[in-house]
Amino acid sequence: MNIAFLGLGAIGRPMAARIAAAGLPLAVWNRTAERAAELARASGARHAKTPADAARDADVVITCLPVSPDVLALVEGPDGLLGGMKRGATLVDCTSGDPATSRKIAERLATVGVDFLDAPVSGGVSGAEKGALTIMVGGDATVLDRVRPVLETFGQKIVHCGDVGAGDTVKAVNQAFLAVHLLAAAEGLATLVKEGVDPTKALEVINASSGRSNSSMNLIPERVLTRAFPRTFRLALLEKDIRIAAEMARGHRVPSPVIQLTADVFTMARGELGEVADHVEIVRLVEQWAGVEIA
Ligand code: NDP
Repeated sequence: MNIAFLGLGAIGRPMAARIAAAGLPLAVWNRTAERAAELARASGARHAKTPADAARDADVVITCLPVSPDVLALVEGPDGLLGGMKRGATLVDCTSGDPATSRKIAERLATVGVDFLDAPVSGGVSGAEKGALTIMVGGDATVLDRVRPVLETFGQKIVHCGDVGAGDTVKAVNQAFLAVHLLAAAEGLATLVKEGVDPTKALEVINASSGRSNSSMNLIPERVLTRAFPRTFRLALLEKDIRIAAEMARGHRVPSPVIQLTADVFTMARGELGEVADHVEIVRLVEQWAGVEIA
């Protein structure tokens, strides 16, 4: 199978590198060409000059861009995938996208005989590097079976969630959990520090108790207590994710004050911290508002 990978950002690059390392023929394209050139040099992949050029011989084209409208633009744009992909090929979109735009993309591609799966991933940059991502997939199950060997080069748990858009919906709600847990953990730990409790001791208890989460078990010990705050997943992208979940909940008239409020806090944080800040940097804002450091 020939593969093309478009979008070599923080998570896309290690995913594409896993495909190349598995020995599959790979073409790579990135908006900033130097990133694709660098990966081509490092992995032996072909550096394609346009999306259509990348897709030319590909049986499977994988995209990983910030938002679904970016993917739609890549499909419909000049030198785009609509004209570039061959009949019978599959577009696997690993963007954490929105279901309505994914359905639109699937419809456009169907007119030229191309299948579509929305396949957002979870597990972070370190999960991608290890080939240990969770992949949640929307679309035809037989199409997923066809491309599964490619997804297995970077994914460990691959779950078919339903029709096109279902992967996006599960991802958005997962991200809402992440945002809520992270914010709640920051508020709770700031309070404990003000009470004079060592946050390391507090987390030792909480992580053996019912209040634990990925934030308390991994993110805060590794990134906050150490003051490392590495930039691996932009806060702007998490704000985009929880916004998708909040709009879905509102659309279905699900009372969702916690998700709506957390989405608003992340929107304010995005305004404060800008487009390149990492998602865990929201803890810095809570620290600033509380006048205390969780350390
Ligand atoms: P980055 O911001 O690091 O990278 C974005 C990539 O998309 C870059 O290659 C960028 O190109 C490209 N890009 C941006 N806008 C456009 C556009 N309009 N047209 C074409 N290419 C574009 O994002 P991530 O890699 O972190 O995230 C990608 C997706 O994966 C997002 O949906 C995110 O929510 C999701 N995700 C990210 C995780 C993470 O840990 N980082 C974990 C799980 C999911 P250029 O190099 O030119 O800027």
